[in-house]
Amino acid sequence: MNIYPHPVHSTLSDSQLGQEELKELLAIAKQNGGEFAEVYIEHTVNNNIGLDEDKISSARRGVDMGVGIRVLHGEKTGYAHSDDLSLDKLKETARVAGLIASGKAKQTDFDLKKQKIPSYYMVKTSPDRIVPAEKAKLLWKANSTARDYNKSISQVYVSYSDSNTEITIANSEGLLVNDVQTLTRLIVFVSALEKGKRSSGYAYKGGTLGYEHYNLELATELAEEAGRMAVAMLPAEDAPAGEYPIVMAKGECGTFFHEAIGHSLEGDGARKKTTCFWDKKEEMIATEIVSLADDGTIPGARGSINVDDEGTPGQKNILIRDGKCKGFLYDKLNAKLMKTKSTGSGRRQSYQHYPIPRMTNTYLMAGKDNPEDILRSVKKGIYISQIGGGNVSPTTGRFVFSVPEGYLIENGKITSPLKGIQLMGNGPDVLKNITMVGPDLEISGGGTCGKDGQSKPVSDGNPTLKVSKITIGGAKVRG
Ligand SMILES: [Zn+2]
Repeated sequence: MNIYPHPVHSTLSDSQLGQEELKELLAIAKQNGGEFAEVYIEHTVNNNIGLDEDKISSARRGVDMGVGIRVLHGEKTGYAHSDDLSLDKLKETARVAGLIASGKAKQTDFDLKKQKIPSYYMVKTSPDRIVPAEKAKLLWKANSTARDYNKSISQVYVSYSDSNTEITIANSEGLLVNDVQTLTRLIVFVSALEKGKRSSGYAYKGGTLGYEHYNLELATELAEEAGRMAVAMLPAEDAPAGEYPIVMAKGECGTFFHEAIGHSLEGDGARKKTTCFWDKKEEMIATEIVSLADDGTIPGARGSINVDDEGTPGQKNILIRDGKCKGFLYDKLNAKLMKTKSTGSGRRQSYQHYPIPRMTNTYLMAGKDNPEDILRSVKKGIYISQIGGGNVSPTTGRFVFSVPEGYLIENGKITSPLKGIQLMGNGPDVLKNITMVGPDLEISGGGTCGKDGQSKPVSDGNPTLKVSKITIGGAKVRG
């Protein structure tokens, strides 16, 4: 493995912002009487390589560095950011953020105390120390493996990306914290074509993982899995439409719980009463075998965080316990307005954005039903191997999800592959129709969640489970 002898980028410690400067900026931000001030410093290095049509089609490296200064006053947020880190420019930035308040500075006497934080990342070798040619070997290996997998494979696209984000957060409560967040991901997409029929497959691995988790064996495994999926789906028939029981396979259906349930349990929506669960705390909203968690502390998972982007430690939050709604995900602002505590869910895309309540790793918790019994219990239904993209309204919980890999279940057995499966309905209804949950919880490699124009890495997961009925909008119905 070729490794750069030293980190190849300048780091935050190269900037001239010591504790005294941070305190000065916080004092300036609060000088109009703001209740809370915060300085967020970020330095991010992104690397990405893509391989398409048998050649390296893109190779990018980006460095982003800047400071965001936030002032809270009642429900109001003042936010200003700068990519010029000179102290004069930052003082100006602090003044702008403080403009939302008008009055005299309140007590600003505090000491910044550096917080010790746990580590949930599995990073031994920073990917930023690996030369691009080394990373490109993964792509070439995945490409050749996928093309050799089956003669029907007609297109292969492979992408590797990583990012290293170093953050420092200081606030007027005296908090001072540093974190280095490393993300890596390898994705293989393939298309298959045979006798005029087309299909596609993909596989990926990602997380808060160091480069030591990536090697040619992994590239081979992912390429074979993507090939398997595409070949399996080649003979797929149009899915039937109507109401059916479904079985969701472990691991790759967690997107459903993130999108259709999790977003409705975020604290900003709860406070503004715009989600379907805002008034359901301590009420039964699901069958009693349903428990849902959002857990920022899973080692190596893509949504894991040592601290959120307000400096609150990552934590495991139970959102639904035995069918009962237990609470919402909060950042500092929404927690304060709701007279509760942050759940370590205040996240922001970059220094240019202020934090909002976000999920981390969201999953349906393990149950007790044997996965084979779950399948056997379905006479005629649909087996969902993985859930693809979706569309959800947090207000009503209504959703439509596509299913890139699914099969018919006949007499308790998985039979023909189906294409064009669409899951339709609303989250609250599905929660009441979950009748079996297996013990085999698996967390996926994760993806990226978009909310209010901000992207953030997340993951999700689920054990094998049965939904007794759900509407399938099949390809046949539209024909
Ligand atoms: Zn989302």
